[in-house]
Parts: sequence; C-alpha cells; structure tokens
Amino acid sequence: MTHLHSGKVRDLFRLDDGRLLMVASDRISAFDFVLDPGVPDKGRILTAMTVWWFAQLPVRNHLISVDDPVIPVEWRGRAMVCHSLDMLPVEAVARGYLTGSGLLDYNATGTVCGIELPPGLVDGDRLPVPIFTPATKAALGEHDENVSFEAVVAEVGEQTAAELRDLTLDIYGRAAEIAAARGILLADTKFEFGRDPQTGELVLADEVLTPDSSRFWPADQWEPGHAQPSYDKQYVRNWLLSAESGWDRASDTPPPPLPDEVVAATRDRYVEAYERLTGLRFADWPG
Ligand code: ATP
Ligand code: MG
Repeated sequence: MTHLHSGKVRDLFRLDDGRLLMVASDRISAFDFVLDPGVPDKGRILTAMTVWWFAQLPVRNHLISVDDPVIPVEWRGRAMVCHSLDMLPVEAVARGYLTGSGLLDYNATGTVCGIELPPGLVDGDRLPVPIFTPATKAALGEHDENVSFEAVVAEVGEQTAAELRDLTLDIYGRAAEIAAARGILLADTKFEFGRDPQTGELVLADEVLTPDSSRFWPADQWEPGHAQPSYDKQYVRNWLLSAESGWDRASDTPPPPLPDEVVAATRDRYVEAYERLTGLRFADWPG
C-alpha cells in the first residue's frame, strides 16, 4: 500500500487495487494540540462507532470492510477498507445547537453561514430548527472556515449543494433522534461526501458521528449559558486547564504529557460513549 496522507489523528493509504485504507490512530487533540501520549484504543473505539453508525443510516457509505485480510493484524479494528471517491471540497456541517464557531459567528453577525437566527441566543442553546452550516476544508494547522450556502453553490453547483444540504440535515436528524433516545444530545456534526467515480452517486465518506467529528453532550447536564461538558474530552481539557498540569493555555507552549490516570479516565469515557450509544460491548469489537 502507498501512504497518501496523515491528518492530526488518522492515516490514509491507497491499496494496490485502488481501494483506500483509513486508519484511526490513538492520537487525541485538544485546544488544537495533539496530546502526548495518545489514548489507548481510541482509534478502535472511533472506528467501531463509525461502523455502527453507517449501519444505522439509510444512505450509501464508503465502507467496504473492517476485516479484509489486507489489513495488518496490528491495525485490526482501527482500519476501514473504503471505496475511493472523488471528494467534494465541503465540510458538511449540521448544527442543532449553538456553540463553537457557530456561536462566534452568531455573536459577531447574528447569523451563522448567512443564516439569520433569533436574537438573544446563548452558548448551548437549541436552535429553532437544525441548520446546514458548511465550511471549507482548511490547510493543515488552520481552522475550517464557515461559508454561506451560496459559496457551496459556487464550488459544486446548485443541485449538488442542495443535495448536500438535504442529506446532511436528514442524516443529522436521524442520528440526533437515535442519540437522544440514549440520553445524548448531538449538538452538531460534520460529514464529508464524495462521488462514486463510476456512477456519480453521492456517498457518505470519512468517519461519521464520532466524538472527533461531532459534539456529544450528556442530555442530563445540558444547561445553556456556558460551555457544555463534552462527553469525551472534558476530563482532559479540565486537567490541562487545572493548576495541576502547570500549563498556561495563553502561552504558545505545547501542553505537558498527560498523567496515566488522566489517560485512563479519558479512555473510560470513550468506551462509555460507545457502549451507551450502541448498546454493544467494546470488548466484543475486533482487534
Ligand atoms: P484533520 O486532522 O484536521 O481532520 P485532515 O482532514 O487533513 O485533517 P484526515 O481527516 O485524517 O485529515 O484525512 C482523511 C482524508 O481522507 C480527508 O481528506 C478526507 O476528505 C479523505 N477521505 C475520506 N473518505 C474518503 C474516500 N472514501 N475517498 C477519498 N478520500 C476520502
Ligand atoms: Mg478530516
């Protein structure tokens, strides 16, 4: 196989037969830093989640196999063999709640991606209806930039833009319903789509509905007006910001290494998120 690309967390390879191998590592990022050390099993947990979600969603996706013999044993459970697609250059984001870059835009302009919102909303508020807030993919080290629907039209054409928006909101709605039934609010999420090079069909790609691509909030702790506790990384973030870590976020220095107990507690949170969401046991996942 040929190495194509490494992001903050995942590595992408092309197999000799043209298919892709997407490998999720145990790397974890917070405050835009990749932390040291990684969280054991994080890559397998996120892969297990993605595979589970693909099976729940009535849309075509790029997954071919997680147990193809081409996958080296040490990558079992963290690697997906996928159809290679012509990716659309759009981060297809749906938001049901206001926070993050959506909140920043709203505070500055009263809109998100050009969509007018009611006045007086605060961090964590539920939006009147879920909205499509596309972003353009940023170069390494830069933040994705929120763009208007018209900007997506300019990039991919009217019909594709409308299809992307409708698919994104449909999938978000379905996923939010499933998560809500398990006590989890799906505040927002990002999808990537590509086209089947043979048929031109739109296909759901990348990882989906993981804590790295979505905000999951425990529903019983939801309280608009401040940042919500996030299911997975809150523990790590709290520790980094605590006196104990000795880290000054305002400085340009990278965070210190995570102590064993912080790593272990973070791993427990990922496992808990997976098991609570899917009703499956992580111990049963391959790898
Ligand atoms: P970041 O760490 O910020 O996410 P990144 O997006 O560059 O950085 P990855 O998300 O790890 O890094 O990269 C995965 C890449 O694979 C993305 O460019 C994504 O668009 C691409 N991709 C996902 N699924 C497919 C597919 N089925 N066919 C082709 N490319 C795909
Ligand atoms: Mg990415």
